[in-house]
Amino acid sequence: MSKAVFLYRTVTEFITNFASSSFPLGHLPQGTVNLQDSNLASKYIADMSLAIEEARAGLREGGIPVGSILFRNGTILGRGHNMRIQRNDPTAHAEIECLRNAGRIGNYTDTILFSTLMPCHLCAGAIIQFKIGTVVGEDLNFGGTGELLESHGVKVIDVDSKECVQLMADFIRDNPKLWNEDIGTL
Ligand SMILES: [Zn+2]
Repeated sequence: MSKAVFLYRTVTEFITNFASSSFPLGHLPQGTVNLQDSNLASKYIADMSLAIEEARAGLREGGIPVGSILFRNGTILGRGHNMRIQRNDPTAHAEIECLRNAGRIGNYTDTILFSTLMPCHLCAGAIIQFKIGTVVGEDLNFGGTGELLESHGVKVIDVDSKECVQLMADFIRDNPKLWNEDIGTL
């Protein structure tokens, strides 16, 4: 099975109750997703559009373009992007911001965390700590912690998103110092 098909099936699995679920409209881009159309919604979620949108928002603010979405059973629980530069906070990675924005949601085992970049060790710590069930990321520009996460029972999916790869590759090429600071190799 190709990664794309696997990802689509995984996401579709999580939104089987989509039509009857409540979707927090305020958390979604206006006019982008028809929330009553589960196929369209699954497409937007599966192709990382929402996480990419977060990453681009960070870039527009002068920050590191990494975006994350926390998703469960037809509902976007939280979204966020890297705020390290904007807030002068070394721990403000996209995944952490996303979890903070989601607030306390109880159990995380049936959630999917989408990230435009495979999570680093800082974010992997939070994922393991809260027992997030599935992580979807892109690991071409940054190897991340896929094996570590899998060793703790997290399902890890490399999304192979050309848009995620390009976004990060462009940023790393243009801002090598900022990028090295972000991954602790300055
Ligand atoms: Zn991180």
